[in-house]
Amino acid sequence: MLPISKPDLDAETVYTTCTATARPKSVRPQLQQLTVDLNDAVARYDTAAAGEGLHTLGDLQHQPDGKPDKQPGIKKPKPKAGGLNTHLEAAYTNRLVPEKSPGHGFYEQLMAKAPDGRCPLCSQGVADTLDHQLPKVVYPLLAVAPVNLVPACRDCNFHKGDQAPAAAADQTLHPYYDHNVHDYTWLVARIIEPPKPSITFHVEPPPDMPPTLAARVRLHFTTLKIARLYNPQAGPAVRTLSLNLRRWKLPSSQVPQHLLELAEDAAVENPNCWQAALYTALASNAWYTQGGYEKPWR
Ligand SMILES: [Zn+2]
Repeated sequence: MLPISKPDLDAETVYTTCTATARPKSVRPQLQQLTVDLNDAVARYDTAAAGEGLHTLGDLQHQPDGKPDKQPGIKKPKPKAGGLNTHLEAAYTNRLVPEKSPGHGFYEQLMAKAPDGRCPLCSQGVADTLDHQLPKVVYPLLAVAPVNLVPACRDCNFHKGDQAPAAAADQTLHPYYDHNVHDYTWLVARIIEPPKPSITFHVEPPPDMPPTLAARVRLHFTTLKIARLYNPQAGPAVRTLSLNLRRWKLPSSQVPQHLLELAEDAAVENPNCWQAALYTALASNAWYTQGGYEKPWR
């Protein structure tokens, strides 16, 4: 997960822009009246997210209508005047996302927060959509709330789905709020030795990591299927590394230190990046440092 700063967009301005042209016209006054509820919900969200408490916002589920606007397995109904939840979801889908929609400028501003255009959730994919941290189908009032909209790749967006957290440990990491997750090193790589050398990646939280945060990291890693994003990159990285070590003719006694320096450099940007985990694991692997880099890797 790549931490990013919270968007400084005003939630009411975004909401007003995205609901002012709702159809039919008759629904607009009702949507406008919701700005008080919206501001209250966003303020509560901000406090809750900062304290790993998004699961405490259960009373906002399916508000303002108070019931889901679609039943599981049944196709979403067309917007109708009576269902405000459907109009709130449409504010996102029709008034924030499309290129010529009134709120598209906000969409662009939120997308621009993706570091180097990367998905902050997996740090691997290209950010090409916005993910609702709390799903809009469950929390329609937060459908266009900037703090709930995180740039993401389509895979992360898909894997996250429409699940709403029921407990503190049920929350995947939030790039706007969970910046302390990198105060700890929890990503580790394991080297599988010959005959078929390979690498696997795992979450192993250190003992001093708060249990809820540790559980959330595990959940984030498994929900978004992150290990499988690292594996295809790690093999080529080791092959290039081995090639360099052979070319430099570095004495094998100096190889572990060199690998630790590579790990340290990689960790500057993100202590839990796969490169830092990989080089750390290789540095302490006797088979690799004592000549394994001379052997073919797959
Ligand atoms: Zn992603």
